Amino acid sequence: MAKYIVTGAVGFLGTNLCKRLIDDGHKVIGIDNMYSAMPRNLDYLKTLKGFEFINHDICQAFPSELRNDKEIVGVYNLACPASPPRYQKDPIYTWKTSVLGALNCVEFVRETGARLFHTSTSEVYGNPLEHPQSESYWGNVNPVGIRSCYDEGKRAAETLLIDFHRMEKHPVKIVRIFNTYGPHMDPEDGRVVSNFILQALGDEPITVYGDGKQTRSFCYVDDLIEGFVRFMNSDDDFVGPCNMGNPGEFTMLELADLIFDKIDTKSERIHKELPKDDPVKRRPNISLAKEMLGWEPQVPLSEGLDKTIEYYRNIK
Ligand code: UDP
Repeated sequence: MAKYIVTGAVGFLGTNLCKRLIDDGHKVIGIDNMYSAMPRNLDYLKTLKGFEFINHDICQAFPSELRNDKEIVGVYNLACPASPPRYQKDPIYTWKTSVLGALNCVEFVRETGARLFHTSTSEVYGNPLEHPQSESYWGNVNPVGIRSCYDEGKRAAETLLIDFHRMEKHPVKIVRIFNTYGPHMDPEDGRVVSNFILQALGDEPITVYGDGKQTRSFCYVDDLIEGFVRFMNSDDDFVGPCNMGNPGEFTMLELADLIFDKIDTKSERIHKELPKDDPVKRRPNISLAKEMLGWEPQVPLSEGLDKTIEYYRNIK
């Protein structure tokens, strides 16, 4: 049994990760300032034995009581608004959370010796010119676009962490997460999977942005969390960045059709304007995760959607 800090604990991935760590017998200190977190997730986490919550903004230094806690063996840094509508709401704050948040994690682990697991994103590849994207690809990112606060914030955080590792040999892990879905995803997040399911359940129009031919690769959350745990526990010299996502690639039209097949609904498909700088395609090359961690997703999209639909039916 060990003790971990999870920043962004009350978010979608944070909630699923905390549950997994506690199921594995660990103690978890969840940090969140509830900026883009769902209160329902906090109610849920508080029912888990071994979970402790601290309301704190990681743009500030970690609380001193944590700095003195010698039991903490690792920090999972997940704090950052992550859906485009949420991270664009206050772009300066998004950038600060990404960069200053990562810096405060570095300061904390430097002092305590804990391992640092950092969540980066497929957005570091921008609108990719290489397909599928492997870790060696440097990306095609607009530095002054409406997505830049997130993309460039995450890129700057990667730079900081890799330099920290190079200079001090500290155990650091950098994961690049591709689109993920599943239970505990905030219905208000504005993500395509949650939007389509909730629209279909509510008999409201299904909003496809643009012509719907853009692609994404959707990973079920349990698969991703399994990858996180394996990566955190991997050899010190495996730092990444390492892609994690499901290589199955779907257009938004295909996703809408799948959801129409699964939900008996009066909804119809409508098209809305494509958001600016929306990547045309995205699909991970996961050879590195397979080779280094023996990891690959197990849950097909259809099965994961069934579980997600079930979750949303129950919270309605
Ligand atoms: N999208 C859509 N309808 C929605 C929400 C999103 O067609 O109601 C599209 C969006 O334009 C993008 C894709 O779905 O091309 C994935 O969007 P999401 O916000 O889930 O993730 P990201 O853009 O960060 O990959």
